[in-house]
Amino acid sequence: MSYPVAFGCVSVLRPAEHRWGGLVRALVYLGPGSAELQDRPAARRTHDDDVVVEIVGTGVCGTDRKILLGRFPARPGTVLGHESVGVVRETGPQVRSVAVGDRVVVNPTLYCGWCVPCRRGATNFCRHKAGTEVGVDRDGTYAEAVTLPERFVERVPAGLPFRSAVLIEPLACVLNNVEAASVTCGDSVVVLGAGPIGMLTALVAGRLARRVIVAEQDGYRLERAREHFAHVVDVAGTDPAEALAKSWGDDRPSVVFDTTGTGLGAALRLIDDGGRVVVMGFDDAYSVPLHPLQLTNRGIRLIGAGDYRADIFPVAVDLAAELGGPRRPGSGTGTLLDRLVTHEFPLERYSEAFTALGGLVRSDGHSGDDAHGEDGEDSGAVVPRYDALKVVIRSHSGPFGDDGWPVDA
Ligand SMILES: [Zn+2]
Ligand SMILES: [Zn+2]
Repeated sequence: MSYPVAFGCVSVLRPAEHRWGGLVRALVYLGPGSAELQDRPAARRTHDDDVVVEIVGTGVCGTDRKILLGRFPARPGTVLGHESVGVVRETGPQVRSVAVGDRVVVNPTLYCGWCVPCRRGATNFCRHKAGTEVGVDRDGTYAEAVTLPERFVERVPAGLPFRSAVLIEPLACVLNNVEAASVTCGDSVVVLGAGPIGMLTALVAGRLARRVIVAEQDGYRLERAREHFAHVVDVAGTDPAEALAKSWGDDRPSVVFDTTGTGLGAALRLIDDGGRVVVMGFDDAYSVPLHPLQLTNRGIRLIGAGDYRADIFPVAVDLAAELGGPRRPGSGTGTLLDRLVTHEFPLERYSEAFTALGGLVRSDGHSGDDAHGEDGEDSGAVVPRYDALKVVIRSHSGPFGDDGWPVDA
């Protein structure tokens, strides 16, 4: 897959006072297939509850790739990026929960707080989202700094490295979906797809369920999944439903999460009667016939969870601290959160970051277009090939700690 985006020029570390008083570097979306690094006026406070965050790193999300390919709508002129961590550099006079110098994570799912869905707690379905989606139609975090209201900036717990904290936002998405599935200790869970979202889903569901099986068809991701999970099934070139039935016989899953965006058909064949199918990945090009009788007779619940609600984000922060905090002696070579981040690139090399994920090859050997969900699955003659899990674009130029990540200056 090639991204028709141009390289920016190499940045020189500018003096701090210049960065905050003048221009900051940012990756700006120009239109389908096109983005460039620009010098933008530095993020400034305009409201008393604003917080200016110097961005340290931002995870590359499937949505970002889709935006660049013109398959997900975004507003031209917007700075891309939304899964990010950084350090507070300025606060408005009303800000109480964070202070200058705090390590923080950005919650990019903004809401108004006063519309009907917001007032009943469903902030994920806020009616005033237009113009507030960070990295989509409001300036995002592939930049040196971002300004957001205080309630969308959370402190990163002490001991949780930035490198792991960058996964808090994807973890919030996963918690929302696992909660929507009401997973309990009696459940047998199948997760289709072992990308970052699939792996996090297996991790979270695995804390609750009796058993979790991960199904993947890409060699690289199978290998990574086997490092962390006991039950991993290779579904390359086969119907996942058949491959899993072969491994597990009559013990069909009571919950299936499809993180690929193209696995709903397989999930419906796979799920046990009375089970729940959760649709997480998305792929506009994929559709599947749905027979109502299939749902009514077999008592299957089909679940879509939307964005996460505001109350889920702090839970994701705590869970990340639990999963990615300081290691106990003898606990192996790193937490799953830490090891999910497989590649890092400075902002100037954003184009490499977008291609590092891997790409699609047609079965005739030519490179293909992106035609699958966030975590990918075979879609017709196009076969995804992955070389990475979570890729991070780093905006910060130092100083760096032992883990190679910036520490607060
Ligand atoms: Zn994302
Ligand atoms: Zn609202």
